Amino acid sequence: MNPLGHLLRRLIREQGPIDIGRYMALALAHPQHGYYTSRDPLGSAGDFITAPEISQLFGELVGLALAQAWVEAGRPRPVLLAELGPGRGTLMADALRAARVVPGFVDAAELHLVEASPVLRARQASLLRAYTPRWQASLQGVPETAPLLLVANEFFDVLPLRQFVRDAGRWHERLVTVDDADDALRFTLSPYPAPAGWLDGAEQASDGAVLEVAPAREALAQELGRRLAAQGGLALVIDYGEAATGGDAFADTFQAVRGHKSADPLAQPGEADLTAHVDFAALARASRLGGAAAYGPVEQGTFLRRLGLDLRLERLLRSATPAQADLLKAGAERLTAPEEMGRLFKALALTAPGAPVPPGFEPAELFA
Ligand code: SAH
Repeated sequence: MNPLGHLLRRLIREQGPIDIGRYMALALAHPQHGYYTSRDPLGSAGDFITAPEISQLFGELVGLALAQAWVEAGRPRPVLLAELGPGRGTLMADALRAARVVPGFVDAAELHLVEASPVLRARQASLLRAYTPRWQASLQGVPETAPLLLVANEFFDVLPLRQFVRDAGRWHERLVTVDDADDALRFTLSPYPAPAGWLDGAEQASDGAVLEVAPAREALAQELGRRLAAQGGLALVIDYGEAATGGDAFADTFQAVRGHKSADPLAQPGEADLTAHVDFAALARASRLGGAAAYGPVEQGTFLRRLGLDLRLERLLRSATPAQADLLKAGAERLTAPEEMGRLFKALALTAPGAPVPPGFEPAELFA
């Protein structure tokens, strides 16, 4: 049993079963033993791979979209350029390199990286040193003194989520407990039904349905909405999940990944990535509550094509060796093909009400 496993068992024995959100928060972000605190999880030697690690096209197109939004906002100086959970820093490095074609943008940008992991902060430092980034522990650390251009790729999916299971016509919260027989961590249902009103609109679900709610994600989306309404700017949230609440037919999407394979989320706490699908409609509603206008979500394949993926790929292919060309084409395919990342991954844009329609979105995609 690993150290975090011991700690969780003690906590549960002293205080009773814990909700999945608390389990996720401890397993991912415990100051010593948390998954993200203690390692670089990305790449082929790690546990999973993300869009910016698959292809430079991803970060480049995001960078061009943000630079375009900056131009449309009247080229404010300074502008706060922020990323939530930048991983190795690859997305931001590709974005800033591509955005050099927009005169003045890189000089106007003040870079803020919201990152909890000391290991990943070090990687970001080596890639982004030239842009003198400032690191923040949370969005709260990012100033409110100028317009904000923000990107978050695969960040919301690691924020804590809670689950409720439909049982005999009532919703009961799914909790993590310790099995006295073998000392293993196990899922259990709270014997108490969830308070009426919490799960409005989901009364029709049949027994066994799982409803996922993520107050931590929604609070962050609301805060982003508040900031964009006050500061102006644009936030691009890219992640995997459903466009509408319950859009996955109330499935259980809580999952663990280790060594590029699916794993038992309770087996080795702190040693596997824990995620769950993002409910984009819930994020859009929360950001509107904060005062922002929300657009989308649109599927990643559509989003990247609208941002000019094909043109940019063509341009890169002109100066590529045959081996590089193969990699570029395979990467573009992986990012956009519906059966790969093109459909499950989606992009949501948040702006101040009345701001121009964000690059990659259409006026009719305003979330109402
Ligand atoms: N955006 C990157 C990495 C995604 S992995 C990419 O696309 O490759 C999730 C990132 O969020 C990691 O950088 C992780 O360390 C960071 N992270 C996770 N939980 C966090 C939290 N609560 N606060 C700040 N950063 C966090």
